[in-house]
Amino acid sequence: MIASISLDLDNQWSYMKTHGDAGWETFPSYLDLVVPRILRSLKERDLKITFFVVGQDAALEKNRDPIASIVEAGHEIANHSFNHEPWLHLYSRAELIEEFEKTESALEGVTGIRPVGFRGPGFSLSPAVFDVLGERGYEYDCSTLPTYVGPLARAFFFLRSPDVSEEERAKLKKLFGKFSDGFQTLKPHFVDAAGRSIVEIPVTTFPCVKMPIHASYLMYLASYSPFLARSYWRSAVTACRVTGVEPSLLLHPLDFLSGTDVAELKFFPGMNVATEKKIELLSFAIDLLDGNYKIVTMREHARQFRDEHQLDPEKMRLERA
Ligand SMILES: [Zn+2]
Repeated sequence: MIASISLDLDNQWSYMKTHGDAGWETFPSYLDLVVPRILRSLKERDLKITFFVVGQDAALEKNRDPIASIVEAGHEIANHSFNHEPWLHLYSRAELIEEFEKTESALEGVTGIRPVGFRGPGFSLSPAVFDVLGERGYEYDCSTLPTYVGPLARAFFFLRSPDVSEEERAKLKKLFGKFSDGFQTLKPHFVDAAGRSIVEIPVTTFPCVKMPIHASYLMYLASYSPFLARSYWRSAVTACRVTGVEPSLLLHPLDFLSGTDVAELKFFPGMNVATEKKIELLSFAIDLLDGNYKIVTMREHARQFRDEHQLDPEKMRLERA
């Protein structure tokens, strides 16, 4: 069985922007600090994963080298929007097309590669996004997070972000999703996108209970008890095996950084955990996954699903239904 790993390369400015902090407009970046750290961890295990990169970062000269180094190390680059606005589902069709054009040309400018995968910022998604993905030849989307706890996570975020304006709050009404997202399947499936079928690969949550299991959540648990975080991850991997779920693990740069590295982001959950502790926990999590599954990129995960299901029109019809 396979598992995939992806990393949303959210930069310092995008956290500051969502949090309502002044100074994000100059696009402060930690990519030159964190990207080598992430690549080193992956190289030690000879793993290839997918990086969802924000177009605005690729458009800035200061980020060229770290972003180019990701592709040079053999990893996949995919689209994580241009402006990283978690209210992407409110964009008009024209705004979406502009957003995609700018991101694709920025990523292609730095890496020479046109992305075929997409993840919306803050898991934002709309029927219009699927249409644009289909029209632009995308192979897969990874913007769904099947969990019941989205509204709880959002309430927690607002509690810790008093500087977010009323206007921004209205736009962030769907940040992290709604309760009913928990009823969505954890398994890959085909989605109709402007008459084409693209593969939807949900971010895996704990089978049945649908609690988040992405690395940042493990870091948050570790800030209370590293033992709890490890047991939780071990149970999650076992539950995936028992239920036949091929997991897709989501990482973020903050899983490799602490409040000492980026003082501006000290407010973020788990940033009080030391970098070495985080990398230790991450190593444990990735090694356990690696021991149970063959780890592939998101594109490979989508391709394998397509290969297994494409030839069976009846099964495909059921998947779509
Ligand atoms: Zn993001």
